[in-house]
Amino acid sequence: MDPVTDSLNEVHRRLSGLRDGQVADYIPQLATADPDDFGIALVSMAGHTYRAGRTDTPFTVQSVSKPFVYALALSDLGPAEVLRRVGAEPSGNPFNAISLERDTGRPANPMINAGAIATTALVRADGPAERFRRILACLSAFAGRPLDVDEDVYASEAATGDRNRALAYLMHSAGSLRADPEETADTYFRQCSVRVTVVDLAVMAATLANGGRNPVTGVQAVAEPDAVRVLAVMATCGMYDGAGEWLLDVGLPAKSGVSGGLIAASPARFGIAVHSPPLDGSGNPVRAVAALGEMSERFGLHIMHGPGLRATTVTGAERFERDGRAIGVVTAQGILEFTEFEALVHAVGEVTPSAPGWMVVDLTAVTGVLPGPAAGLAAVLDDLADRGHRAAVAAQETFIEAGEGRPRTWEMFRTREEALSWCTRA
Ligand code: GLU
Repeated sequence: MDPVTDSLNEVHRRLSGLRDGQVADYIPQLATADPDDFGIALVSMAGHTYRAGRTDTPFTVQSVSKPFVYALALSDLGPAEVLRRVGAEPSGNPFNAISLERDTGRPANPMINAGAIATTALVRADGPAERFRRILACLSAFAGRPLDVDEDVYASEAATGDRNRALAYLMHSAGSLRADPEETADTYFRQCSVRVTVVDLAVMAATLANGGRNPVTGVQAVAEPDAVRVLAVMATCGMYDGAGEWLLDVGLPAKSGVSGGLIAASPARFGIAVHSPPLDGSGNPVRAVAALGEMSERFGLHIMHGPGLRATTVTGAERFERDGRAIGVVTAQGILEFTEFEALVHAVGEVTPSAPGWMVVDLTAVTGVLPGPAAGLAAVLDDLADRGHRAAVAAQETFIEAGEGRPRTWEMFRTREEALSWCTRA
């Protein structure tokens, strides 16, 4: 097991017992979801996927489609025209609110239904079939695989979607929806009924975090400036009427949906997704909100948090023989947050001797280690010991401690030289 998966598993384990929230039932087919389904997936900028819990359950994307269709409208019409037709204000309203500007009927918020329905209509196409085909192709490019529609949820949603039809008619009468209201609502229902897994959502979020380029397939799903606008709208509007508090506490661009999916993007670091159907009073999945809160704190992910200039963290990774002993050395500098930690773990993997040998992690130029990475590094060192290696950490401070109730499996030195000379003596 790798340390990123370990920390996802730990968050998953701690939160699986959380029983708050209600599964959405206003669309009858959504009410059949299993409230115990709970999966977390994370995709890094290097394209690695990490998972915890149930990550294979298919569910419908619902509102989590909104940022991606917004991205498609941006690339079709450009940012100025999209903004002219759909606002970018966190309306502080629930997902199904009649949230339209008084004089123009322009919907305020593209991440709740009214604004999203208007956005769907902006996607360029000759007719509804072609429009939906382009939406599905866009969602699939973000996910990196061909997605399909859950016809049962679509039928259920279409049969009970009068409020969304009403929103479309209201906007049409105000002149802010220039397409046919029935057709537009129907395309929107299909868009909400696209089937995904939590891993698909994590890849989609990672694509936004990676400037629009899917880090798994390498495909540019949307231009970089459009990805930036989508993340900005997610940051301010992505969490229904809980958006403000979310930005305060968790501090990541995110979007949730009524089927219990939630994505969050840590720009230039990773995309993460959680699936857990029970929702809180704002319509956000309870376990997902708690999981992201914990992750943000442990890995210092808040976007307003200033880690200073990001320099290369891993400054050396080598393996050599000294006095007949195979020794791996990884050298790092700066502050170890998530991305730096991931790079360090991979470097350790690369230079670990093939047969049991010695490993030095040189942190003498490291100035800080966040709690998540510290726990992760302890796990990496334990794993080296389990595999018969002997490890040493050189650091100015005790950044890494043994896990609770466990013996420390590595030696500690103040300097690299002391650590290296131990390798040839021990
Ligand atoms: N299909 C849902 C609706 O419009 C999506 C709502 C959501 O996930 O917020 O009612």
